[in-house]
Amino acid sequence: MRYYPVFLDLAGQPCLVIGEGEAADAKVRDLVEAGAEVRVIRPADYRDGDLEGARLVIDTSGDPELNLRTWREAEAAGILINVMDVTDKCRFIAPAIVRRDPLLVAISTSGESPFLASALRARLERLLGPEWGPFTALVGGVRRRLREAGVPLERQVRAYRRLLASDILGRLRRGDLDEARREADLVEAEAGADRPGQVALVGAGPGDPGLLTLAAQELLGQADVVMHDALVSPEVLVHAGPQARLVDVGKRGGRERNAEQERITAEMIEHARAGLDVVRLKGGDPFVFGRGGEEVAELVSAGIEVVVVPGVSSAIAGPAAAGIPLTLRDLAASVGIVSGHSAGSRADLRAITRLATAVDTLVVLMPLANLDGIARSMLSVLPADRPAAVIYAATTPEQRVVRAPLDLIATAAAAEDLPGPALLVVGEVVEALPKRRLARLLSEVLAG
Ligand code: SAH
Repeated sequence: MRYYPVFLDLAGQPCLVIGEGEAADAKVRDLVEAGAEVRVIRPADYRDGDLEGARLVIDTSGDPELNLRTWREAEAAGILINVMDVTDKCRFIAPAIVRRDPLLVAISTSGESPFLASALRARLERLLGPEWGPFTALVGGVRRRLREAGVPLERQVRAYRRLLASDILGRLRRGDLDEARREADLVEAEAGADRPGQVALVGAGPGDPGLLTLAAQELLGQADVVMHDALVSPEVLVHAGPQARLVDVGKRGGRERNAEQERITAEMIEHARAGLDVVRLKGGDPFVFGRGGEEVAELVSAGIEVVVVPGVSSAIAGPAAAGIPLTLRDLAASVGIVSGHSAGSRADLRAITRLATAVDTLVVLMPLANLDGIARSMLSVLPADRPAAVIYAATTPEQRVVRAPLDLIATAAAAEDLPGPALLVVGEVVEALPKRRLARLLSEVLAG
C-alpha cells in the first residue's frame, strides 16, 4: 500500500466520530483541536444515513458489523473514512505526530509498525525540542517580510541558512526570546545587502564518519563550497548539502607544496569575498600538523571571517583505535606529538630525540618517509626493546597495526608495506593492554 500524504484543513468542517470511551474521545480531541465541527454517535445509536454531509468519518466502535456498514456508506458517498485498526477499511490513516506548531512532523510506516513510528517520534521529539515551534514562526515572519521587500530568492535562502546556523535555536531553548529576536532581525536586515562569506576550518576526524563532530556536520550542510583534503572519506562528505560544490584540493599533484598551499588559500579568499561560505575540511584536527594555523593567519590578514572547528586528531584516535592508551597510571604520565615528515635533517632528528627523552609516550605523524632514521635516533636515548607500533588507516575498515620493539619496528613495517596514512607510537603503553582490537569499528558499533 502506498499512501498520498496530506495535511487536511478541517476548520469548520463537519466530521463524525462513531464510538465511545477513550479511543473515541482522543479522536474527538484531535479533530476539535484542528477546528472541525465534530459530531459523536454512540455505536448503539447509529442509523443508516447518519454520516451524510460529513467530510470525514472515524469509526472507533470496534464492531465488525457496524464497521462494514459505515465503510460501505462512506465509500458510496465519497466520504473519507478511517475504521480504527481495520487497514482495508481506511481511506486515510493517521500518522504519528511531532507537534511544534506551526511545525508539524508526521510519521507513517504505512501501518507496518506502530512501534517503529512511535520510536521514531520519540527520537524526533528529542531532536526537535519545543524551541522549534517559536523558531519556525520566527523564520516564517522573516520569510514574509523578505518576500514583501522583493529580496531575490537566492539571498532569502542564504538568510534562512544563516538563521538555521545561528544560535537562535539555542537562545529560544534557554528562554532568551529578546536576544533570539534581535539576532533574527540582524540576519533579516543584512539579507538584502552584499555580505562576504565566511571560511570555516573544520576537522574531519581520522576517517571514521562516526568521529565527525556535530558542528562539522552542521557547517558542511550550510556550505556553498567544501574544499577537502584527499584523505577525507566519502562518508564524511555526504553531509555536504545539495548546494555545495566539492573541491578535492589534495589530489592536485604536480605542484610544489608551498605554491599549492598559496593557491588553496587564495581560492578560499576569493570565494569568501564573492559572498560564499567555505568549509575547509582537513583530516583529523585542523591545528595538528594540518597547516591550519598558517591558513587562519592568512585569511585573517585578508580580512576574512574565520571559524575553527576542532576535530578528532589521528594522533589521539589512532592509538585509541588500536587499543593503545596514550597515558596510563604508573606507566605513562606524558605524551608528545611530533612530525616525522621533515626528519631528513640531523636537526629534525635531534628534535625527535629530545622529545623522546622528555615524554613517556611519543606519537610521530607522517613517519614513513624516514621510519628507519627516526627509530635509530630514538634508540640513542631509548632502550632497544621499548615497545613500538605503526598504525595504518586508523578507524577505517582498512586499519592495520604492526607492533615490534623499537630496534625492529622499521624492518617490521617495511616487511608489511601496508597502504594508507600511518603513525608511529613509541612507549611502554603499546604493550600495556591485551593485544587485540578493543572494540569493533565505531561505525559498526553505532549500526548495532
Ligand atoms: N591534522 C591531522 C594530521 C595531518 S598530517 C590530524 O590531526 O590527524 C597527516 C598525517 O596524519 C598522516 O601522515 C598520518 O601520520 C596521520 N594520519 C591521518 N589520518 C590517519 C589515520 N586514519 N591513520 C593513521 N594515521 C593517520
